[in-house]
Amino acid sequence: KLHNTILELKGNIRVFCRVRPQLADDSSSNHGKVFSYPTVMEYLDRSIDMTHNGQKHSFIFDKVFMPDVSQEEVFVEISQLVQSALDGYKVCIFAYGQTGSGKTYTMMGKPGLPDEKGLIPRSLEQIFQTTRALQHQGWRYEMQVSMLEIYNETIRDLLSTNRDSSRFENGVTGKQYMIKHDANGNTQVSDLTIVDVQSSREVSFLLDRAAQSRSVGRTQMNEQSSRSHFVFTMRITGVNESTEQQVQGVLNLIDLAGSERLTKSGSTGDRLKETQAINKSLSSLADVIFALAKKEDHVPFRNSKLTYLLQPCLGGDSKTLMFVNLSPEPSSAGESLCSLRFAARVN
Ligand code: ADP
Ligand code: MG
Repeated sequence: KLHNTILELKGNIRVFCRVRPQLADDSSSNHGKVFSYPTVMEYLDRSIDMTHNGQKHSFIFDKVFMPDVSQEEVFVEISQLVQSALDGYKVCIFAYGQTGSGKTYTMMGKPGLPDEKGLIPRSLEQIFQTTRALQHQGWRYEMQVSMLEIYNETIRDLLSTNRDSSRFENGVTGKQYMIKHDANGNTQVSDLTIVDVQSSREVSFLLDRAAQSRSVGRTQMNEQSSRSHFVFTMRITGVNESTEQQVQGVLNLIDLAGSERLTKSGSTGDRLKETQAINKSLSSLADVIFALAKKEDHVPFRNSKLTYLLQPCLGGDSKTLMFVNLSPEPSSAGESLCSLRFAARVN
């Protein structure tokens, strides 16, 4: 039986699919390839087939990146979206997929390997380069960043210098991190640290601090970073001194919690609660994106912290891109099919 799912996302929502290469420490896999990439002319670089339990499943996305596609080549496909944030749009880029599928690699890259920098450092470089060049045309930009983590439907500030607030909201510090949207579509999270930045080096420094804060929280909470969503936000405000033109854009880059199902029996107590929270927020995200794609009247933003936080950056004339990251391992085929179906739900 051949499933033929043709995905046609309209408007400002795009889905890119990326398959990571086989790694040296992947379980040995002489069981044949899970994915193949048919070369149908009209869907060139957009189609992917997978075989699971003897069945073939076909999918079409806005773009399909095969395992050998480099970070630079991926960035070429999103740099226009980064430019949109500079032009005053609200942009969200998500990485979705099971743990080990390449979400963090796509977003951050490999530490210490400049060629393998991910979307976040490359986007920052583009933003600072462009804003510097535009100074000659009278543009003055201000950039602010915040970084937070959402775990079990609670927010944690990753840039807080206060040691106590490395805990989650309502912890020792009693911080609430209340999300508020004003009439202009600006989001405020109470108590959240916001840092003015002037160079990509400064932001790299903050990213390191956030990563450190994440791992501290990890041992405290006995959880793994793969169980929480990481949200990087950069607000860009530009004013032209001669024309008095103004632009205000937002770039959100989100490394989502691992999408794998942990519903195996034995999942009880905190672990069960955690799994339910992740499933809930990922399915809420899908509900929201797909309601937007179908231009439905009711978009259920309020069903999870993540979608509520990003509400002004998801609807309207904002732009959204979802990476569906996939592992080529045969043992991951079941999860890969779930990820592909998740992405194709709008069909
Ligand atoms: P996730 O964040 O989804 O759990 P990671 O990004 O940590 O997954 O990727 C798992 C492993 O695979 C890491 O060692 C990462 O460096 C490697 N990896 C992922 N994608 C690629 C890629 N496109 N090329 C090379 N290595 C990759
Ligand atoms: Mg990761």
